Amino acid sequence: MPATIPTLATTMSDTTSRYNNILARIREAAHSAGRKPPRLLAVSKAKPASAIRELATAGQCAFGENYLQEALDKQAELADLPLEWHFIGHLQSRKCAEVAAHFDWLQSLDREKLIPRLDEARDPARGPLNVLLQVNIDDEDSKSGCTPEQIDALADAVAATDGLRLRGLMAIPAPGDAQRLRASFARLRELFERLRDRFPDVDTLSMGMSDDFPLAIAEGATLLRIGSALFGPRS
Ligand SMILES: *Cc1c(COP(=O)(O)O)cnc(C)c1O
Repeated sequence: MPATIPTLATTMSDTTSRYNNILARIREAAHSAGRKPPRLLAVSKAKPASAIRELATAGQCAFGENYLQEALDKQAELADLPLEWHFIGHLQSRKCAEVAAHFDWLQSLDREKLIPRLDEARDPARGPLNVLLQVNIDDEDSKSGCTPEQIDALADAVAATDGLRLRGLMAIPAPGDAQRLRASFARLRELFERLRDRFPDVDTLSMGMSDDFPLAIAEGATLLRIGSALFGPRS
């Protein structure tokens, strides 16, 4: 076999070079918006534990998963790493106990009946489960999430527990052009600021994904959820 000269592209894996590229784009977008760079959640649904391990080696510590069993399998394989796990998928009430037991954050709380189930199941030794309320910001029939009008009651119910700590809001806007997306992100930021006025622990606005994160940064996202732009397309 002829000897080949390794280039940077072949020595650094695709995932690691995409990661460095995304981090640079986040810094750039934050700089031009005059904002602090948001944190990055790597959305690893449908990707193997080996891909998570690789990003963890490159410096990423927070990972988001949508499906409970898939997440538990990967967590078991990666138990030697100090990772922060976020549940971001639709949460069924019968899965509350396991989410409370195995995750650090829940980003998709959208109805009141889940709250006592999560609270009872949270081990006090782990500290409270960090919670974001998911808002159906564009009022889509197909999406989970509470309405903007339901935020206050849900926030009060979370704040009344010992096992849950209210940290902010999450949303997935309806697909649209940049102007529409930006308007959705701006409405979400207003709701977030109102909530922050009422609850001092609220500090997290989770919005922005692979295709729209620069717009979300411009509108004040503090946490981005990025999957395919980091790990490649999901088959
Ligand atoms: C899959 C998913 C993401 C990431 O989407 P990409 O377009 O792959 O970046 C973010 N948030 C939620 C809730 C998701 O389900």
